[in-house]
Amino acid sequence: MSLRRLPGLLATLALAITATACGSSQKTIDAEAQSGSKAGALVGVTMPTKSSERWIHDGENVKKQLEQLGYKVDLQYAENDIPTQANQIENQITKGAKLLIIASIDGTAITSQLQQAADNKIPVIAYDRLIRNSPNVDYYATFDNFKVGVQQATSLLVGLGVKKADGSEGDKKGPFNVELFAGSPDDNNATFFFNGAMSVLQPYIDKGVLKVASGQTDFKTVAILRWDPATAQKRMEDILTKTYTGGKKVDGVLSPYDGLSIGILSALKSNGYGTGGQPYPVVTGQDAELASIKSIVAGEQYSTIFKDTRELAKVTVKMADAVLKGGKPEVNNTKDYDNGVKVVPSYLLEPVIVDKSNYEQVLVGSGYYTADQLT
Ligand code: BGC
Repeated sequence: MSLRRLPGLLATLALAITATACGSSQKTIDAEAQSGSKAGALVGVTMPTKSSERWIHDGENVKKQLEQLGYKVDLQYAENDIPTQANQIENQITKGAKLLIIASIDGTAITSQLQQAADNKIPVIAYDRLIRNSPNVDYYATFDNFKVGVQQATSLLVGLGVKKADGSEGDKKGPFNVELFAGSPDDNNATFFFNGAMSVLQPYIDKGVLKVASGQTDFKTVAILRWDPATAQKRMEDILTKTYTGGKKVDGVLSPYDGLSIGILSALKSNGYGTGGQPYPVVTGQDAELASIKSIVAGEQYSTIFKDTRELAKVTVKMADAVLKGGKPEVNNTKDYDNGVKVVPSYLLEPVIVDKSNYEQVLVGSGYYTADQLT
């Protein structure tokens, strides 16, 4: 062979090797496409805000668990601003995300982004909060939200002595003055929590055991937009000023979220509760946030509802992985979460009431907090 032909031969050889290599990687791509697998794909995760601890835990847990399975993760927070969240979702679609996990701010405000996702065949999992008015929500991972409300109300009654912790009737017959708060009206969960709570409280209101002295009982009036603690504090202050005059005292407050409970307790404190022999009323909560657990230990807030965000992340990541592998995720509820267009197949986890009697066992025992964090 003449040496002059060598470069040509080498080039042919190189081409052949490249072709073989391409052939094998093409085969891998084809096989992945056939099995529907999207190993290592980008997953877009959007959370509402960092102003509440729970969402920080949620985001971290989901990201960590997805990365452990080899996925890439784009995690975004929107500080409760709806247009920001909509932009973040659009960006994730543009960046090539193959699945979206969304904890929405306003469950009705991202319909066009979801349509865009559907047009690009990107499945969507609603995280903790149901996304409403869109057909383009594939699955929903959450806690039993109605039960959260039932537990909040039950704990309020136990704190008042109207019920015992085992569910039997307590010795106290009232009448007790209570005030009601609900969450953000654009968050589907808020209605579930309130309806769950009222299913327990209404019979006691009807019997006169509980009196809502302000007269404010309908959801729209008692709802706190964006779950804002300062708005709750202001509402509690207004109620105390207008209704609780001439020595009249509040005995209990139904609060649906720890952040609101802290605001409500501040209003009570500035009106003389918690000092001079005037105890705080029984104030409920939700999320087992650190500040509230400390408040419970200090005898201020009465209770909270623990929803283990590690477990919610686990269920969601399992769902995402199944969908990305072309399979069907496990669900345990196919009837309760109608988003206005369809019933979204859901997986519901169990919430747990936490008060002074069990916080150590539930929160420290499960490793959610260390004993040091609570002191
Ligand atoms: C969540 C609650 C939380 C609230 C405020 C709800 O959607 O389910 O756990 O307390 O939002 O962040």
